[in-house]
Amino acid sequence: MSPIDEEQLQGLQGVRDFLRIRTSYDVLPLSFRLIVLDNDLLIRKSLNILIQNNIVSAPLWDSHNGRFAGLLTSTDFINVIQYYNQFPEQIDNVEKFRLSSLRDIEKAINVQTLETVSVHPGRPLYEACSRMLRSRARRIPLVDVDDETGRETVVSVITQYRILKFIAVNTEQHTSLMKKTIREINLGTYTDLATCKMTDSVLDVINSMVVRNISAVPVIDKNNVVLNVFEAVDVIPCIKGGAYEELKSTVGEALAQRPEDFPGIYTCQEDDRLDSIFQTVRQSRVHRLVVIDDDWHLKGILSLSDILKYVLFHGEEGDYFPQT
Ligand code: ADP
Repeated sequence: MSPIDEEQLQGLQGVRDFLRIRTSYDVLPLSFRLIVLDNDLLIRKSLNILIQNNIVSAPLWDSHNGRFAGLLTSTDFINVIQYYNQFPEQIDNVEKFRLSSLRDIEKAINVQTLETVSVHPGRPLYEACSRMLRSRARRIPLVDVDDETGRETVVSVITQYRILKFIAVNTEQHTSLMKKTIREINLGTYTDLATCKMTDSVLDVINSMVVRNISAVPVIDKNNVVLNVFEAVDVIPCIKGGAYEELKSTVGEALAQRPEDFPGIYTCQEDDRLDSIFQTVRQSRVHRLVVIDDDWHLKGILSLSDILKYVLFHGEEGDYFPQT
């Protein structure tokens, strides 16, 4: 094994050890707010609450049984859109749907029900991370149980983004050892990329995200030059106020609705080393990196899950699992 390989493994091991001694509680800020939505709320209203509070997901609470009822994310709104498209005659009912009907909507359009995974906040972070990766959830709720009453409490929600940020900020001594380029370790996706054009309809892009189970699609021009990235969360402002018709609008129009503080897109190149990717994660609000060449031609996509999978499982015998 070359010294560079050895260092890389040493760095990976360092991060894994760190994740085993830290818990999800450690990732949470000292003070934070948590918005939990009652499962009886109308879907239409829940959308307004997310927009008003500038959030893209929220845990759901079943107040009849005093139980955690899953996590509301942009995927649920995408499912409602798919439902509306398959059953346009139901548009009046769509307005009346409550959050508790989301599971019925999933069944009606025949999509796989997202597992309602949760993790105890006191468990090692490594466990929260590997649960998230295995279930393909991009975020999981931290649910605590009161020893005496047995009642559940939703403490917070932990995301891939937060975990990767936590790793990048706290383990620089380990990540700085990862000097292999993303090409050398074959990190990211480079073939069969889902892309779109500014003039494509939002609906078509949503369909390709659902079919491929991905959270973003690069927007390119006719020369394969990257112009932007359409993300699953961009769907939320599009359907504000029940405007399902607006999904016929173009990607360009939808992107114009982004909030002013939208952080922009992040790019990298195949010759970038993993330590420099961690540096970008440390310094910026990165949700994925678009891999480009010197002339901004699209080469690939590097998702947070690609990075986390590598960091947790690379080289672990029997523990690495293929992408599905
Ligand atoms: P994350 O789980 O971090 O949100 P995604 O769900 O978007 O990331 O990505 C899941 C997998 O699909 C990753 O391996 C990623 O490289 C790949 N992927 C992401 N976007 C695209 C795309 N537009 N075309 C093809 N593959 C993609």
